[in-house]
Amino acid sequence: MNVPDADLLSRFAAIVGTANAVFPGDRDLSRYTDENRRIYRGRTPLVLRPGSTGEVARILGLASATRTAIVPQGGHTGHVAGAVPDESGSQIVVSLERMTRARDIDLAGNTMTVEAGMVLQRAQEVAAEHGRMFPLSLGSQGSCQIGGNISTNAGGTAVLAYGNMRDLVLGLEVVLPSGEVWDGLRKLRKDNTGYALKQLFIGAEGTLGIVTAAVLRLFAMPKGREVAWAGLASPAHALDLLNLALDAAGPSLTAFELMGRTPLDFTLAAVADARDPFDRRHPWHVLAEFSSGRSEADARQLAETVFETALEKGIVSDAVLAGSLARARALWKLREDMPPAQAPQGASIKHDIAVPVHRVPEFLEKADAIIAAELPGARVCAFGHMGDGNIHYNISQPAGGDAAAFLARRLDVNDKVHALVVALNGSISAEHGIGRLKRDMLAAVKSPLELAMMRSLKAALDPKGIMNPGKVL
Ligand SMILES: Cc1cc2nc3c(=O)[nH]c(=O)nc-3n(C[C@H](O)[C@H](O)[C@H](O)COP(=O)(O)OP(=O)(O)OC[C@H]3O[C@@H](n4cnc5c(N)ncnc54)[C@H](O)[C@@H]3O)c2cc1C
Repeated sequence: MNVPDADLLSRFAAIVGTANAVFPGDRDLSRYTDENRRIYRGRTPLVLRPGSTGEVARILGLASATRTAIVPQGGHTGHVAGAVPDESGSQIVVSLERMTRARDIDLAGNTMTVEAGMVLQRAQEVAAEHGRMFPLSLGSQGSCQIGGNISTNAGGTAVLAYGNMRDLVLGLEVVLPSGEVWDGLRKLRKDNTGYALKQLFIGAEGTLGIVTAAVLRLFAMPKGREVAWAGLASPAHALDLLNLALDAAGPSLTAFELMGRTPLDFTLAAVADARDPFDRRHPWHVLAEFSSGRSEADARQLAETVFETALEKGIVSDAVLAGSLARARALWKLREDMPPAQAPQGASIKHDIAVPVHRVPEFLEKADAIIAAELPGARVCAFGHMGDGNIHYNISQPAGGDAAAFLARRLDVNDKVHALVVALNGSISAEHGIGRLKRDMLAAVKSPLELAMMRSLKAALDPKGIMNPGKVL
C-alpha cells in the first residue's frame, strides 16, 4: 500500500475542501484514530469528511489510482477496532458524519431513504415524525450511524420481532473501491434477479466499499406496549419463560433480555438513580417487552397472562409490570446502563457470542466453569439478547486485582470460551463483527472453504486491497 506524500494528501483534501479535510497538525485526531477501549491507538495522515456521494466517489477513485488505504468510519461505536486506522500512519480515514440527510420518505411504500451518516436515533425520530417506526434499537443509538449499522449488520433489542439490519434494508447505494457508484436504492420486497448484491455489503465492515445511502423499511407504530421485569433462579428458567412468552404472544413479544446479578449490581453501583425492581435479590433477571397493534390494554393483558402463568408454574420468582411509559423507560434504562456500568469495575475481557437459543443455559454453565478455573476471583458479567441466543459474556477483573495480569490472559481465555461456542454450533461474533480485534480468530472458526470464498469476493470487488486493510480477513 502507498504511503501518501504531501502532494497526494492535498489532492485528497481538495476533493472535500479545506474545512472538511483535517490534518494531524490541525487538531487532536484521537477521536478518529483511537479504538474505544484504547486497545489500539492508530495514526492517520488525514481525515476526510465528504458531504456527498460524488465526493466519496472521487476519494475512492483517487485512492484506487494511487493504491492508498481508506478506512470508512461511522459513529465510531464499534467494539472490534473496525473503524480506526492502524499504527502505520498511512491509512486515510473517511468519516461519513456530514452525510446525514433523509432523501425520501415514502409512506405509501413504508420506506425511508437516508444517507449513511444519519445517526440511528435521528432515523428513529424521522420515522416517528411521519407516524412510522424504524425498529433498530441499540444502546449506542445516539451516536452510531446507519452506514455503520449496515456495515456491522447491527442487531440490538428488537431483533426478536423485526430482525437485524439485514432484514431492515431494502436497497443500498455504495461507492465501490474503484470509485464507481452502485445505485442499488431499490424499494422491492421481492427481487430474485441473480445474486443479492446488497447483502454482500451488509456486515462487510467497510472492506468492500463505502455505503453512502440506504432504503430502510418502516413499520406501523405499535398502539400499546408493556414492559415486564422478572427475577429468576437460572438461565434454564429464562428459557422456559421465553418459550412460554413466545407461545402466548408470538410476534407481539418484541424483546427478551437476560441479565445476571453481577451486571445489575454494577449498574446499581454506577448509576445514581438506578433501583433494583425487587426487594429480594435474584440471581438472574429478564426484561420482556410486549407490543400490540390494538391498544395499551391489549399489550398489558398479554404481559399479565404470561407472567401470571410463569409465577404459577414456578418459572419466575418475582415479576413486575411497568404499567406506565415512565416506568418502562426506567426498566429499559437499567438494562441499557449495563455495558457502561462495567467500566468502573476495572479491566474486562469480552465475548459477543451467539448459540442456538435453547443452548444458552448450557453455554453459561460451561463458560462459568471455564472462567472459575482460568481466572479465579474474576466476576462474570453476562447479559444480552436471549431471544436471539446472543449473550455479551463479559468478565471483570477480580475486585482490587492486577489489571495488567488479568488482561494478559485475554487471548487465552477468549480461545477457550470461543472453543466452547464453536462446540455448541455458535458464533464468536453475534453483533459486533470481526474488525481487527477478532481477525486472527477467524481461521479457527471458519472452514478453509468459507475463508477462500470470502477472499475471492474481496479480491473481486477490491483487487487493490485499499478498503479497510487489516480488518476481517
Ligand atoms: C453502549 C453500546 C451498545 C451497543 N449495543 C449494540 C447492540 O445492541 N447491537 C449491536 O449490533 N451493536 C451494538 N453496539 C456496537 C455498535 O454500536 C454497532 O456495531 C454499530 O452498528 C456501529 O455503528 P457505527 O456507526 O458506530 O460504526 P463504526 O464503529 O464507525 O464502524 C463499524 C464498522 O463499519 C464500517 N463502516 C462504518 N460506516 C461505514 C460506511 N458508511 N460504509 C462502509 N463501512 C462503514 C467501519 O469501517 C467499521 O468496520 C453497541 C455499542 C455500544 C458502545
